[in-house]
Amino acid sequence: MKLAILKETSPGETRVAAIPETVKKFIALGADVAVERGAGAAAAIADADFEGAGASSGERAEVLKGADIVLGVSGPETESLAGVRPGALLVAALDPFRRREAITGYAAAGLEALALEWMPRITRAQSMDILSSQSNLAGYKAVIEAADAYGRAFPMMMTAAGTVSPARVFVMGVGVAGLQAIATARRLGAQVSATDVRSATREQIQSLGAKPIFVDSVAGIEGEGQGGYAGETSEEYRRAQAELVSSHIAKQDIVITTALIPGKPAPRLISDAQLATMRPGSVVIDMAADSGGNVEGTVANERVERHGVTVIGAVNLARSLPADASALFARNIYNFLSSLWDKEQGGPVLADDDEIVRAVRVTKGGQVVAERLAG
Ligand code: NAD
Repeated sequence: MKLAILKETSPGETRVAAIPETVKKFIALGADVAVERGAGAAAAIADADFEGAGASSGERAEVLKGADIVLGVSGPETESLAGVRPGALLVAALDPFRRREAITGYAAAGLEALALEWMPRITRAQSMDILSSQSNLAGYKAVIEAADAYGRAFPMMMTAAGTVSPARVFVMGVGVAGLQAIATARRLGAQVSATDVRSATREQIQSLGAKPIFVDSVAGIEGEGQGGYAGETSEEYRRAQAELVSSHIAKQDIVITTALIPGKPAPRLISDAQLATMRPGSVVIDMAADSGGNVEGTVANERVERHGVTVIGAVNLARSLPADASALFARNIYNFLSSLWDKEQGGPVLADDDEIVRAVRVTKGGQVVAERLAG
């Protein structure tokens, strides 16, 4: 079983899909591992580190030659995959909805493509979930970016020249990224509050020492929501939420928004008029910028000034922590493939009735098989 680890080619990508630790573990399972030269450079992993773990390194064509499994962070261009075995597995974050043509290309090339971002949110798959691992780092980094853009300090400081008041940070959307943002802002000494539509998050917010800000007059989403995901809320709820946010937001220095609804554009949580009520110098980090944004006027990948407020359209913040992001991503992939590994077959066996396999499999036998892509 030959595993190929590719050097990423998408602009701005810094991560790599394997680290020496996971290379060693794959070799212990009986695999041969080949790493494209320079694959780990941006994540501070030298070719020699991969070689030291037992991998070979070479140019892309050599690495792909006869490969049974290809690992990537993002989905590679189909044309760049010549040489792999027919039926080879391609394991990466394939962005299937936005890269529909590439998916058709993988099918035509006879690859069995597995989209890691479609890992189901079930307990067994927790250690394989790239969205969680990368969101965790992104939530941390959002706070660091906010602190950097903010012209004041986060913690309260008592100095001989007077007192510096603590920053007030409001986190909207308390999933994996939001929880880490709350924890990070608390560690920096800010006064933190947070909101979500899922009622189960109230206790999580409190347990991190932050103040929950919730709509109480209208029912939101009970408990965890379906599989931990939020759905769309009623019109009445949205109105009550907007009112609550309006009164709260004017008193905040930093707002971090992370709200996402699967398969839908990100919910709009902050209007331009609400932004205008914030103190000049305040900072808003919109972590949903890539899905349409939670904040009116957000531009993905850009920093814009509105009414004296800096609005940062944060995209893929995990990329700015390449070493940690790669390590977690690589372990997610290892945990996934090793869970399917069959010693006798000497490689992963993908059972059609496995909940995880069914969720992530996008192409097989020359066809696009993902139900989510039908129609
Ligand atoms: P997500 O990225 O889908 O959404 C981020 C947050 O935004 C969610 O908490 C959501 O409820 C919230 N949100 C949506 N609409 C909103 C609105 N209008 N106003 C305010 N908030 C809104 O979520 P996520 O980070 O992937 O995680 C969500 C839950 O799933 C968490 O409880 C997490 O622990 C769980 N989870 C479980 C697994 C697993 O078991 N394998 C993996 C990942 C996440």
